Amino acid sequence: MQFSTISSIVDAIKSGKSTATQIVTDTLADIHARDSATLAFLETFDADALAQAAVIDALVKNGAALPPLAGVPVAIKDNMLYAGHTATACSKILANHTAAYTATVVERLINAGAIIIGRTNMDEFAMGSSGESSAWQKTHNPWDLTKTPGGSSSGSCVAVAAGFVPIALGSETGGSVRQPAALCGIVGTKPSYGRVSRYGIIALGSSLDQVGTFAHTANDAALALSIIGGRDERDATSVDGRGLPCPSSFVGLRVGVPKEYFIDGMDGEVRARVNEAIDLMRQHGAEIIDLSLPLQPYALPTYYIIQPAEAASNLGRYDGLRYGTRATGNLEESYFNARGDGFGAEAKRRIILGTFILSAGYYDSYYKKALAVRTAIRQEFDDAFQRVDVIACPTTPGVAWTIGEKLDDPVAMYLADILTVAANISGITGVSVPCGFAHNLPVGLQFLAGAMQDEQALAAAAAYQSLTSWHEQYPRI
Ligand code: GLN
Repeated sequence: MQFSTISSIVDAIKSGKSTATQIVTDTLADIHARDSATLAFLETFDADALAQAAVIDALVKNGAALPPLAGVPVAIKDNMLYAGHTATACSKILANHTAAYTATVVERLINAGAIIIGRTNMDEFAMGSSGESSAWQKTHNPWDLTKTPGGSSSGSCVAVAAGFVPIALGSETGGSVRQPAALCGIVGTKPSYGRVSRYGIIALGSSLDQVGTFAHTANDAALALSIIGGRDERDATSVDGRGLPCPSSFVGLRVGVPKEYFIDGMDGEVRARVNEAIDLMRQHGAEIIDLSLPLQPYALPTYYIIQPAEAASNLGRYDGLRYGTRATGNLEESYFNARGDGFGAEAKRRIILGTFILSAGYYDSYYKKALAVRTAIRQEFDDAFQRVDVIACPTTPGVAWTIGEKLDDPVAMYLADILTVAANISGITGVSVPCGFAHNLPVGLQFLAGAMQDEQALAAAAAYQSLTSWHEQYPRI
């Protein structure tokens, strides 16, 4: 059952070669046997998954038409609500929190026949780039168990990279799908802001958050996006997209290469792999256009003003009274105890930073200025996408690092997102695809496209994958 794609599973069920029940049974057995090494999953939903599988098998038996994800096991990040199931965003403050309703993305997966197999580890409230700020466990990179898989969607990424499931959902605020996908050698997407409903996703930065998909192929990621995406009455910021990708070839495609994405200090081997990928696109008919995007270096500082401001506001709702574990004492003590014990170090850091940024006297000089820079960066992208169809660049400046290495240095951790955050603050779309190895670890190539041009980025990624076989190399654990 390892390293399957959506079609390999759906075809096996359709043709009668396998049953949904068999696939779910095998998947659960595989997770229970091998995930002790990677710690991607917090919990598997065995009984519900088998019940969902039985529904699919009944459809097959009755000769009914099968939905597009019939019997496909999917892992979801622990910040996605699934009614009746625990969802903690990997924070102690939400320990044992049971979801009262189901997120739109999860509901749409279920309606499409997918099997929700379990929930996965993540950085607390999705703040982090390594999964290490989870209150519960540290997830390991399947290519080298001493390395981080990246984050914050660490578990969902490893659930796919290690071969447990063909697709998984993660969420992005600043790169939390693309960055781990790059470090684990799989495809990770960040849809345009608004493309996917945020209803039922535990909020981090509401103007930035977006659910993305992990898969081995851009085609699977595109199919998953077409199912979870689109307008949702319950999220006023959601809009419809175009649907499945356009034909994927580099012939005549204008590919912009921004020099600001090849930063000083980046790993020379990573740079070499990305340059090789760009050469391959040129050989196959792409028009490679050198770009300069001078505002890009301001993306990371802008993100780390806007994001903590929104995080501090969103985390204000966890007061020990309304959600999760109830604290004791008088009102003031209960706030103090719930938040003091419930939040980890990174959450506290961002609450303090965000509250400072939004306080009278600093609001104008930090928050308002960051909003102005954000608009300028978006404008810079809009101008660039007049000249090019997609941008190609590295996803991360280096490969996976050793677990623990950046834990005492928050700024080093923040720098892991330096090449991903611009897409989030601009609301545009991005995809990371595997483009080879450096130091025996995977390297990610990033395609960016304009807002609501998700199919353009996915088509470029699919074109690249049709010329390469990096996505067919798997770790063995
Ligand atoms: N690593 C970034 C942060 O810590 C991005 C997180 C994310 O995309 N959820 O904010």
